[in-house]
Amino acid sequence: MKQNRRRFIYTSCTGLISTLLSPKVLSTDLFHAQMRPDSKPWIELSQSAYLYNAAQISKMANGKPVVAVLKNNAYGLGDVQVAKILSPSAHIAAIAVVKDERALAIRAAGISKSILLMGDFDRALASTLVQQEITLSIFSKDSLKKVSALSQQSKKPIKVALYIDTGLGRMGIPYQEVPKIAQAIAENDRLSISQTFSTLTTPQDFAKEQIQRFEQIIKALDKAGISTGLKHLAPSYSILDLSASHQEAVRPGILLHGSFPGAKMQQAKQFPLQLSYRLKAPVIRLERLKTGDTIGFSRFYKVEKDEWIATLPIGWADGYNSGAENGAKVLLRGQLYPVVNVNASHANIALGAKTTMKVGDIATLIGPEQPEITPEGFGELVKGHNYLQINYKESISKQIYENF
Ligand SMILES: *Cc1c(COP(=O)(O)O)cnc(C)c1O
Repeated sequence: MKQNRRRFIYTSCTGLISTLLSPKVLSTDLFHAQMRPDSKPWIELSQSAYLYNAAQISKMANGKPVVAVLKNNAYGLGDVQVAKILSPSAHIAAIAVVKDERALAIRAAGISKSILLMGDFDRALASTLVQQEITLSIFSKDSLKKVSALSQQSKKPIKVALYIDTGLGRMGIPYQEVPKIAQAIAENDRLSISQTFSTLTTPQDFAKEQIQRFEQIIKALDKAGISTGLKHLAPSYSILDLSASHQEAVRPGILLHGSFPGAKMQQAKQFPLQLSYRLKAPVIRLERLKTGDTIGFSRFYKVEKDEWIATLPIGWADGYNSGAENGAKVLLRGQLYPVVNVNASHANIALGAKTTMKVGDIATLIGPEQPEITPEGFGELVKGHNYLQINYKESISKQIYENF
Protein backbone atom coordinates (compact mmCIF):
# COMPACT_ATOMS: atom_id res chain seq x y z
CA MET A 1 0.00 0.00 0.00
CA LYS A 2 2.18 2.81 -1.21
CA GLN A 3 0.51 6.05 -0.32
CA ASN A 4 3.04 8.21 -2.09
CA ARG A 5 2.21 6.68 -5.46
CA ARG A 6 -1.36 7.90 -5.45
CA ARG A 7 -1.99 10.27 -8.31
CA PHE A 8 -4.75 12.68 -8.24
CA ILE A 9 -7.66 14.42 -9.69
CA TYR A 10 -10.57 15.46 -7.62
CA THR A 11 -13.99 15.84 -9.11
CA SER A 12 -17.02 16.99 -7.27
CA CYS A 13 -20.61 16.86 -8.49
CA THR A 14 -20.18 20.36 -9.79
CA GLY A 15 -17.47 19.08 -12.07
CA LEU A 16 -14.71 21.01 -10.42
CA ILE A 17 -11.30 19.49 -10.86
CA SER A 18 -8.84 20.37 -8.23
CA THR A 19 -5.26 19.37 -7.72
CA LEU A 20 -5.14 20.89 -4.27
CA LEU A 21 -5.48 17.63 -2.40
CA SER A 22 -2.70 15.18 -2.10
CA PRO A 23 -4.13 11.67 -2.80
CA LYS A 24 -5.77 10.89 -6.11
CA VAL A 25 -9.50 11.03 -5.63
CA LEU A 26 -11.51 9.85 -8.60
CA SER A 27 -14.83 11.05 -7.36
CA THR A 28 -16.67 12.04 -4.25
CA ASP A 29 -20.26 12.38 -3.27
CA LEU A 30 -19.74 15.56 -1.31
CA PHE A 31 -22.35 18.00 -2.46
CA HIS A 32 -21.21 21.34 -1.29
CA ALA A 33 -17.69 21.13 -0.05
CA GLN A 34 -14.91 21.20 -2.59
CA MET A 35 -12.52 19.58 -0.15
CA ARG A 36 -12.63 16.46 1.88
CA PRO A 37 -14.20 16.98 5.29
CA ASP A 38 -11.98 18.33 8.04
CA SER A 39 -14.51 18.09 10.84
CA LYS A 40 -16.22 14.79 10.02
CA PRO A 41 -15.30 11.18 9.33
CA TRP A 42 -15.12 9.88 5.77
CA ILE A 43 -14.67 6.61 3.89
CA GLU A 44 -12.09 6.02 1.18
CA LEU A 45 -12.68 3.31 -1.43
CA SER A 46 -9.98 1.72 -3.57
CA GLN A 47 -10.99 1.08 -7.16
CA SER A 48 -8.09 -1.29 -7.76
CA ALA A 49 -8.83 -3.34 -4.62
CA TYR A 50 -12.47 -3.84 -5.65
CA LEU A 51 -11.54 -4.87 -9.18
CA TYR A 52 -8.84 -7.20 -7.88
CA ASN A 53 -11.27 -8.77 -5.39
CA ALA A 54 -13.90 -9.32 -8.09
CA ALA A 55 -11.29 -11.15 -10.18
CA GLN A 56 -10.11 -13.20 -7.17
CA ILE A 57 -13.66 -14.22 -6.26
CA SER A 58 -14.30 -15.35 -9.80
CA LYS A 59 -11.08 -17.37 -9.52
CA MET A 60 -12.34 -18.95 -6.26
CA ALA A 61 -15.32 -20.14 -8.31
CA ASN A 62 -13.25 -21.45 -11.20
CA GLY A 63 -13.96 -18.48 -13.45
CA LYS A 64 -17.71 -18.20 -12.86
CA PRO A 65 -19.12 -14.66 -13.06
CA VAL A 66 -20.04 -12.69 -9.96
CA VAL A 67 -23.39 -11.24 -8.93
CA ALA A 68 -22.26 -8.46 -6.58
CA VAL A 69 -24.51 -8.11 -3.52
CA LEU A 70 -24.51 -4.42 -2.56
CA LYS A 71 -27.43 -4.55 -0.13
CA ASN A 72 -27.51 -2.41 3.04
CA ASN A 73 -25.72 0.39 1.21
CA ALA A 74 -22.92 -2.06 0.30
CA TYR A 75 -22.59 -2.87 3.99
CA GLY A 76 -22.30 0.80 4.78
CA LEU A 77 -19.60 1.59 2.23
CA GLY A 78 -21.79 3.19 -0.46
CA ASP A 79 -23.82 1.09 -2.89
CA VAL A 80 -23.76 3.60 -5.74
CA GLN A 81 -20.03 4.21 -5.34
CA VAL A 82 -19.15 0.51 -5.18
CA ALA A 83 -21.47 -0.24 -8.12
CA LYS A 84 -19.69 2.42 -10.18
CA ILE A 85 -16.32 0.89 -9.38
CA LEU A 86 -17.35 -2.72 -10.01
CA SER A 87 -19.61 -2.43 -13.01
CA PRO A 88 -16.83 -2.09 -15.63
CA SER A 89 -15.35 -5.42 -14.45
CA ALA A 90 -15.85 -8.28 -16.89
CA HIS A 91 -16.24 -10.58 -13.87
CA ILE A 92 -19.37 -8.81 -12.65
CA ALA A 93 -22.54 -10.23 -14.25
CA ALA A 94 -25.05 -8.27 -12.18
CA ILE A 95 -25.57 -6.17 -9.09
CA ALA A 96 -28.04 -7.29 -6.42
CA VAL A 97 -29.78 -5.19 -3.77
CA VAL A 98 -32.74 -5.65 -1.41
CA LYS A 99 -34.43 -2.22 -1.53
CA ASP A 100 -36.32 -0.88 -4.54
CA GLU A 101 -35.09 2.71 -4.24
CA ARG A 102 -31.48 1.58 -4.04
CA ALA A 103 -31.86 -0.37 -7.30
CA LEU A 104 -33.16 2.83 -8.90
CA ALA A 105 -30.40 4.96 -7.38
CA ILE A 106 -27.76 2.64 -8.82
CA ARG A 107 -29.42 2.72 -12.25
CA ALA A 108 -29.72 6.51 -12.04
CA ALA A 109 -25.96 6.67 -11.48
CA GLY A 110 -25.54 5.34 -15.02
CA ILE A 111 -24.94 1.67 -14.29
CA SER A 112 -26.11 -0.33 -17.30
CA LYS A 113 -25.43 -3.81 -15.91
CA SER A 114 -28.27 -6.04 -14.88
CA ILE A 115 -29.64 -5.05 -11.45
CA LEU A 116 -31.44 -7.68 -9.39
CA LEU A 117 -33.91 -6.64 -6.72
CA MET A 118 -33.90 -9.48 -4.17
CA GLY A 119 -36.56 -7.88 -1.96
CA ASP A 120 -40.09 -6.59 -2.44
CA PHE A 121 -41.02 -3.26 -4.04
CA ASP A 122 -43.47 -0.45 -3.37
CA ARG A 123 -46.32 -0.21 -5.86
CA ALA A 124 -45.58 3.50 -6.23
CA LEU A 125 -42.19 2.59 -7.74
CA ALA A 126 -43.37 -0.38 -9.80
CA SER A 127 -43.63 1.26 -13.22
CA THR A 128 -40.27 3.02 -12.77
CA LEU A 129 -38.63 -0.27 -11.84
CA VAL A 130 -39.94 -1.85 -15.03
CA GLN A 131 -38.94 1.15 -17.12
CA GLN A 132 -35.44 1.03 -15.65
CA GLU A 133 -35.22 -2.71 -16.36
CA ILE A 134 -34.67 -3.78 -12.78
CA THR A 135 -35.02 -7.55 -12.47
CA LEU A 136 -37.85 -8.23 -10.02
CA SER A 137 -37.76 -11.26 -7.75
CA ILE A 138 -40.77 -13.50 -7.46
CA PHE A 139 -40.45 -14.84 -3.95
CA SER A 140 -43.97 -15.97 -3.00
CA LYS A 141 -47.47 -16.60 -4.39
CA ASP A 142 -48.40 -13.04 -3.49
CA SER A 143 -45.39 -11.55 -5.20
CA LEU A 144 -46.32 -13.55 -8.33
CA LYS A 145 -49.76 -11.93 -8.23
CA LYS A 146 -48.26 -8.48 -7.79
CA VAL A 147 -45.76 -8.87 -10.65
CA SER A 148 -48.38 -10.51 -12.92
CA ALA A 149 -50.74 -7.57 -12.38
CA LEU A 150 -47.90 -5.21 -13.18
CA SER A 151 -47.13 -7.11 -16.38
CA GLN A 152 -50.66 -6.43 -17.64
CA GLN A 153 -50.17 -2.67 -17.33
CA SER A 154 -46.63 -2.26 -18.52
CA LYS A 155 -45.53 -1.75 -22.09
CA LYS A 156 -42.27 -3.59 -21.62
CA PRO A 157 -42.01 -7.28 -20.81
CA ILE A 158 -40.68 -7.75 -17.27
CA LYS A 159 -37.52 -9.64 -16.41
CA VAL A 160 -38.02 -11.66 -13.28
CA ALA A 161 -35.89 -13.81 -11.02
CA LEU A 162 -37.24 -16.97 -9.50
CA TYR A 163 -36.24 -16.76 -5.83
CA ILE A 164 -36.43 -20.22 -4.28
CA ASP A 165 -36.38 -21.07 -0.57
CA THR A 166 -34.39 -24.29 -0.37
CA GLY A 167 -34.22 -24.17 3.42
CA LEU A 168 -33.04 -20.79 4.74
CA GLY A 169 -36.69 -20.14 5.59
CA ARG A 170 -36.44 -16.39 5.21
CA MET A 171 -37.29 -15.45 1.64
CA GLY A 172 -38.23 -17.25 -1.53
CA ILE A 173 -40.87 -19.61 -2.84
CA PRO A 174 -40.88 -22.81 -0.73
CA TYR A 175 -39.13 -25.24 -3.07
CA GLN A 176 -42.04 -27.66 -3.27
CA GLU A 177 -44.24 -24.90 -4.72
CA VAL A 178 -41.79 -23.75 -7.38
CA PRO A 179 -42.99 -25.85 -10.34
CA LYS A 180 -46.52 -24.44 -10.15
CA ILE A 181 -45.36 -20.85 -9.86
CA ALA A 182 -42.72 -21.24 -12.57
CA GLN A 183 -45.41 -22.67 -14.84
CA ALA A 184 -47.61 -19.62 -14.22
CA ILE A 185 -44.69 -17.32 -15.07
CA ALA A 186 -43.93 -19.28 -18.23
CA GLU A 187 -47.54 -18.98 -19.37
CA ASN A 188 -47.40 -15.18 -19.09
CA ASP A 189 -45.66 -13.89 -22.22
CA ARG A 190 -45.13 -10.51 -20.52
CA LEU A 191 -42.75 -12.16 -18.03
CA SER A 192 -39.40 -13.82 -18.65
CA ILE A 193 -37.23 -15.60 -16.11
CA SER A 194 -33.69 -14.23 -16.43
CA GLN A 195 -32.29 -15.58 -13.17
CA THR A 196 -33.05 -18.32 -10.68
CA PHE A 197 -31.53 -18.27 -7.22
CA SER A 198 -31.65 -19.43 -3.64
CA THR A 199 -29.50 -18.87 -0.56
CA LEU A 200 -27.52 -21.51 1.25
CA THR A 201 -27.11 -21.94 4.99
CA THR A 202 -23.61 -22.46 6.42
CA PRO A 203 -23.72 -26.04 7.83
CA GLN A 204 -22.25 -28.08 4.98
CA ASP A 205 -24.52 -31.12 5.27
CA PHE A 206 -27.65 -29.05 5.00
CA ALA A 207 -26.18 -26.79 2.30
CA LYS A 208 -25.58 -29.93 0.24
CA GLU A 209 -29.19 -30.92 0.67
CA GLN A 210 -30.24 -27.43 -0.41
CA ILE A 211 -28.10 -27.73 -3.55
CA GLN A 212 -29.83 -31.03 -4.33
CA ARG A 213 -33.25 -29.49 -3.92
CA PHE A 214 -32.24 -26.61 -6.19
CA GLU A 215 -30.79 -28.83 -8.89
CA GLN A 216 -33.82 -31.13 -8.87
CA ILE A 217 -36.12 -28.19 -9.44
CA ILE A 218 -33.98 -26.87 -12.28
CA LYS A 219 -34.06 -30.32 -13.88
CA ALA A 220 -37.83 -30.53 -13.56
CA LEU A 221 -38.27 -27.06 -15.05
CA ASP A 222 -35.87 -27.93 -17.88
CA LYS A 223 -37.99 -30.99 -18.62
CA ALA A 224 -41.11 -28.85 -18.68
CA GLY A 225 -39.40 -26.55 -21.17
CA ILE A 226 -39.19 -23.63 -18.74
CA SER A 227 -35.93 -21.74 -19.00
CA THR A 228 -34.47 -20.52 -15.72
CA GLY A 229 -31.74 -18.07 -16.80
CA LEU A 230 -28.59 -17.50 -14.78
CA LYS A 231 -28.50 -19.75 -11.73
CA HIS A 232 -26.77 -18.77 -8.48
CA LEU A 233 -26.73 -19.93 -4.87
CA ALA A 234 -23.57 -19.01 -3.03
CA PRO A 235 -22.94 -16.13 -0.63
CA SER A 236 -19.34 -15.56 0.48
CA TYR A 237 -19.22 -18.39 2.99
CA SER A 238 -20.42 -21.05 0.54
CA ILE A 239 -18.15 -19.77 -2.25
CA LEU A 240 -15.22 -20.72 -0.03
CA ASP A 241 -16.70 -23.71 1.71
CA LEU A 242 -18.52 -25.68 -0.95
CA SER A 243 -17.56 -25.69 -4.63
CA ALA A 244 -20.76 -27.53 -5.59
CA SER A 245 -22.55 -24.29 -4.70
CA HIS A 246 -20.93 -22.32 -7.51
CA GLN A 247 -23.59 -23.15 -10.14
CA GLU A 248 -23.44 -20.62 -13.04
CA ALA A 249 -22.54 -17.56 -10.94
CA VAL A 250 -21.60 -16.75 -7.35
CA ARG A 251 -23.18 -14.06 -5.21
CA PRO A 252 -20.81 -12.52 -2.65
CA GLY A 253 -21.24 -9.47 -0.48
CA ILE A 254 -18.50 -9.15 2.10
CA LEU A 255 -15.71 -10.74 0.03
CA LEU A 256 -15.97 -7.86 -2.45
CA HIS A 257 -14.79 -5.47 0.26
CA GLY A 258 -11.79 -7.66 1.04
CA SER A 259 -13.11 -9.28 4.21
CA PHE A 260 -13.80 -12.94 4.84
CA PRO A 261 -17.13 -14.04 6.31
CA GLY A 262 -15.50 -15.86 9.22
CA ALA A 263 -12.41 -15.22 11.29
CA LYS A 264 -9.26 -17.05 10.16
CA MET A 265 -10.76 -18.87 7.19
CA GLN A 266 -8.34 -21.33 5.61
CA GLN A 267 -8.94 -20.06 2.11
CA ALA A 268 -7.81 -16.55 3.02
CA LYS A 269 -4.23 -17.64 2.27
CA GLN A 270 -5.07 -19.40 -0.97
CA PHE A 271 -7.12 -16.50 -2.35
CA PRO A 272 -5.83 -13.33 -0.74
CA LEU A 273 -8.05 -10.28 -1.06
CA GLN A 274 -7.29 -6.59 -0.66
CA LEU A 275 -9.14 -4.53 1.91
CA SER A 276 -11.05 -2.07 -0.25
CA TYR A 277 -11.72 0.75 2.20
CA ARG A 278 -10.50 3.01 4.94
CA LEU A 279 -12.48 4.78 7.64
CA LYS A 280 -10.82 8.04 8.65
CA ALA A 281 -11.49 10.97 10.94
CA PRO A 282 -9.56 14.07 11.96
CA VAL A 283 -8.55 14.92 15.51
CA ILE A 284 -10.83 17.79 16.53
CA ARG A 285 -9.76 18.24 20.15
CA LEU A 286 -6.60 17.52 22.07
CA GLU A 287 -6.37 17.92 25.84
CA ARG A 288 -4.08 16.78 28.60
CA LEU A 289 -6.27 15.15 31.24
CA LYS A 290 -5.08 14.81 34.83
CA THR A 291 -4.77 11.81 37.09
CA GLY A 292 -8.26 10.97 38.35
CA ASP A 293 -10.09 12.67 35.47
CA THR A 294 -12.66 10.55 33.67
CA ILE A 295 -14.17 10.37 30.16
CA GLY A 296 -17.78 9.63 29.23
CA PHE A 297 -21.24 9.96 30.75
CA SER A 298 -20.75 6.83 32.80
CA ARG A 299 -17.16 7.92 33.61
CA PHE A 300 -16.17 4.86 31.60
CA TYR A 301 -12.47 5.68 31.29
CA LYS A 302 -10.37 6.77 34.25
CA VAL A 303 -7.08 8.57 33.69
CA GLU A 304 -4.51 6.75 35.82
CA LYS A 305 -1.70 9.18 35.12
CA ASP A 306 -1.74 12.52 33.28
CA GLU A 307 -2.20 11.84 29.59
CA TRP A 308 -3.13 13.41 26.28
CA ILE A 309 -6.57 12.51 24.96
CA ALA A 310 -7.59 13.07 21.33
CA THR A 311 -11.23 13.39 20.30
CA LEU A 312 -12.43 12.10 16.93
CA PRO A 313 -15.81 13.20 15.49
CA ILE A 314 -17.20 9.69 15.08
CA GLY A 315 -19.35 7.64 17.42
CA TRP A 316 -21.84 4.81 17.52
CA ALA A 317 -24.54 7.00 15.92
CA ASP A 318 -22.29 7.11 12.83
CA GLY A 319 -22.13 3.32 12.86
CA TYR A 320 -18.74 3.03 14.55
CA ASN A 321 -18.82 -0.06 16.75
CA SER A 322 -19.18 1.03 20.38
CA GLY A 323 -17.24 -2.08 21.37
CA ALA A 324 -14.15 -0.25 20.13
CA GLU A 325 -13.65 1.13 23.64
CA ASN A 326 -12.87 -2.41 24.75
CA GLY A 327 -9.50 -2.68 23.07
CA ALA A 328 -9.62 -1.35 19.50
CA LYS A 329 -6.76 0.74 18.13
CA VAL A 330 -6.49 3.55 15.60
CA LEU A 331 -3.53 4.62 13.49
CA LEU A 332 -2.23 8.16 13.96
CA ARG A 333 1.05 9.30 12.39
CA GLY A 334 2.05 5.69 11.75
CA GLN A 335 1.48 4.51 15.32
CA LEU A 336 -1.35 2.61 17.00
CA TYR A 337 -3.19 4.13 19.96
CA PRO A 338 -6.07 2.68 22.03
CA VAL A 339 -9.66 3.81 21.74
CA VAL A 340 -10.75 4.45 25.34
CA ASN A 341 -14.32 5.69 24.96
CA VAL A 342 -17.04 5.72 22.28
CA ASN A 343 -20.07 8.00 22.64
CA ALA A 344 -22.88 8.65 20.20
CA SER A 345 -20.91 11.21 18.20
CA HIS A 346 -17.33 11.06 19.45
CA ALA A 347 -14.54 8.63 20.18
CA ASN A 348 -11.56 9.27 22.44
CA ILE A 349 -8.03 8.06 21.90
CA ALA A 350 -5.33 7.88 24.57
CA LEU A 351 -2.00 9.23 23.31
CA GLY A 352 0.16 8.87 26.41
CA ALA A 353 2.03 11.29 28.66
CA LYS A 354 3.67 13.23 25.84
CA THR A 355 2.55 13.90 22.31
CA THR A 356 3.46 15.84 19.19
CA MET A 357 -0.01 15.24 17.76
CA LYS A 358 -2.06 18.23 16.59
CA VAL A 359 -5.70 19.03 16.00
CA GLY A 360 -6.26 18.23 12.33
CA ASP A 361 -4.08 15.10 12.34
CA ILE A 362 -5.93 12.26 10.68
CA ALA A 363 -6.72 8.94 12.31
CA THR A 364 -7.32 5.76 10.35
CA LEU A 365 -9.89 3.73 12.27
CA ILE A 366 -10.16 0.93 9.71
CA GLY A 367 -7.72 0.31 6.89
CA PRO A 368 -5.21 -2.08 5.36
CA GLU A 369 -2.07 -0.51 6.87
CA GLN A 370 -1.77 -2.65 10.02
CA PRO A 371 -3.38 -5.95 11.03
CA GLU A 372 -4.94 -4.36 14.13
CA ILE A 373 -7.03 -1.91 12.10
CA THR A 374 -8.30 -4.32 9.45
CA PRO A 375 -11.91 -5.47 9.97
CA GLU A 376 -10.57 -8.85 11.09
CA GLY A 377 -8.05 -7.31 13.49
CA PHE A 378 -10.65 -4.94 14.88
CA GLY A 379 -13.10 -7.83 15.29
CA GLU A 380 -10.49 -9.80 17.17
CA LEU A 381 -9.53 -6.92 19.48
CA VAL A 382 -13.13 -6.20 20.48
CA LYS A 383 -14.25 -9.84 20.33
CA GLY A 384 -16.91 -9.00 17.75
CA HIS A 385 -17.53 -10.13 14.19
CA ASN A 386 -16.03 -8.67 11.06
CA TYR A 387 -19.15 -7.57 9.20
CA LEU A 388 -18.45 -4.49 11.25
CA GLN A 389 -18.71 -1.86 8.56
CA ILE A 390 -22.33 -2.87 8.08
CA ASN A 391 -23.73 -0.01 10.14
CA TYR A 392 -21.81 2.96 8.77
CA LYS A 393 -24.27 5.75 8.16
CA GLU A 394 -25.04 6.79 4.63
CA SER A 395 -24.21 10.37 5.62
CA ILE A 396 -20.50 9.55 5.91
CA SER A 397 -19.01 10.86 2.66
CA LYS A 398 -17.17 8.53 0.31
CA GLN A 399 -14.11 9.20 -1.80
CA ILE A 400 -13.00 6.88 -4.53
CA TYR A 401 -9.27 6.40 -5.13
CA GLU A 402 -7.56 4.63 -8.02
CA ASN A 403 -5.57 2.69 -5.45
CA PHE A 404 -4.32 2.99 -1.90
C1 LIG B 1 -26.50 -10.91 1.97
C2 LIG B 1 -26.75 -11.86 0.90
C3 LIG B 1 -25.67 -12.36 0.15
C4 LIG B 1 -24.24 -12.00 0.41
O1 LIG B 1 -23.82 -12.39 1.69
P1 LIG B 1 -22.28 -12.33 2.13
O2 LIG B 1 -22.19 -13.17 3.35
O3 LIG B 1 -21.99 -10.90 2.44
O4 LIG B 1 -21.48 -12.82 0.99
C5 LIG B 1 -25.97 -13.23 -0.87
N1 LIG B 1 -27.25 -13.58 -1.15
C6 LIG B 1 -28.31 -13.11 -0.47
C7 LIG B 1 -29.69 -13.54 -0.83
C8 LIG B 1 -28.08 -12.24 0.59
O5 LIG B 1 -29.15 -11.78 1.28
